[in-house]
Amino acid sequence: MSFEHLNLDASLLRAIESCGYTAPTEIQNKAIPLAIAGRDLMASAQTGTGKTAAFVLPALHRLINNPAKPGHGPRVLVLTPTRELATQVSEAIRDLGKFSRLRSGSIVGGTPYPPQIKMLRAPLDILVATPGRLIDHFSQGRIDFSRLEVLVLDEADRMLDMGFVDDVERIAAALPTDRQSLLFSATLEGEVRKVSQRLLKDPERIQINGVKDNHASITQHLHQADDLGHKHALIEHHLGQAEVSQAVIFTATKRAADELSRRLREQGHRSAALHGDMNQGARRRTVDQMRRGQCRVLVATDVAARGIDIKGISHVFNFDLPMSAEDYIHRIGRTGRGGASGIAVSLVGPQDWGKLAQIERLTGSPIVRQTVDGLEPRRPEPKPFDQRAKRRNGPPGGGKRRFGGGGSKPAGGGAGNPQIRSKRDGFAPKRRSA
Ligand code: AMP
Repeated sequence: MSFEHLNLDASLLRAIESCGYTAPTEIQNKAIPLAIAGRDLMASAQTGTGKTAAFVLPALHRLINNPAKPGHGPRVLVLTPTRELATQVSEAIRDLGKFSRLRSGSIVGGTPYPPQIKMLRAPLDILVATPGRLIDHFSQGRIDFSRLEVLVLDEADRMLDMGFVDDVERIAAALPTDRQSLLFSATLEGEVRKVSQRLLKDPERIQINGVKDNHASITQHLHQADDLGHKHALIEHHLGQAEVSQAVIFTATKRAADELSRRLREQGHRSAALHGDMNQGARRRTVDQMRRGQCRVLVATDVAARGIDIKGISHVFNFDLPMSAEDYIHRIGRTGRGGASGIAVSLVGPQDWGKLAQIERLTGSPIVRQTVDGLEPRRPEPKPFDQRAKRRNGPPGGGKRRFGGGGSKPAGGGAGNPQIRSKRDGFAPKRRSA
């Protein structure tokens, strides 16, 4: 199927061509005709599948072809969980709407209010926003939603995970009831399903390839790590490999991101931290440095790195495993972008086997175990039984979508998985520092 078959406006086809897209992705093929027909949608599509264009293109098509009602408020509202994702969506709107003369703007937290207030006073076609700051403006009566035609909830599962459910429902309640609603989410079950029942009208469900297929271009490995010192030694080893052109390393906390980035800089790596304590300007500058290749290693937390779309990222490292299995999917999706292949390496500490079991269950396959000569783990991998006992006795996490639900079994490849030894010429084993 080509883009011509999707009956999109000619100005959009021109923009698609200038973006270099030759054929629609699966989610675009399925979602665009239904969205153009005016249907509400709930689509399960991960980042990296082309989901942004799957809602931006029909939204722009509608704006171009339908006359606007009187007023100056936005006709399309896209809600995203994070500022970075809002920026990515805004960039897609700019690129795909460049021949359409539509006005778009974004409202995100961590940036000054006055330019946003000024923007909301002028006529606007598309507004991309994070829920918290949007609610601020809405509560002050600064937004006119009377001519809103389309609501998009992007990465709805994350939005709910981050506690935005009340904000999202409050915003939706202020919108015209005859609007179209498009929901995109990694999962369509649980909270997402409940919220969609309240906010969507007879939605068409779209499920595209499973997670595993979406990440076919990403090779996944793991190393068993004894302790923090072992993790540092493994990271140092990997960053010493020429094949790592650019990397994102995920840590569990902002402090850990700062500390690891500082440590790597001291070792001579071009490294920077990216996390939610940094203001929007600093975050944008850091991402730009990465995009321009001035920075080789980005040490990031989950929220800050969400939505980052940089083609040069060859490797993702999980220095700490994420708090939810869905985050693992989002993390590794930072590599293997735009048709490239990528490598994701996870460091699994003694407390992490329960988290790993959840990840392997979600992805549907065991992650290949690897060792590095001279940096082998001191202990054998715990057997699945020990892992269950550890989870029963220990309290990792607790929330519904968090790890630690107990009773779960690794999807396979646990204790009996053959260890694949990395054969890397020229690697000299180093002493570990604690
Ligand atoms: P997304 O899933 O929206 O984050 O998109 C992932 C990447 O795919 C982005 O770099 C897009 O620019 C790119 N992309 C979107 N649609 C297409 C397409 N039809 N062909 C090639 N690349 C695309």
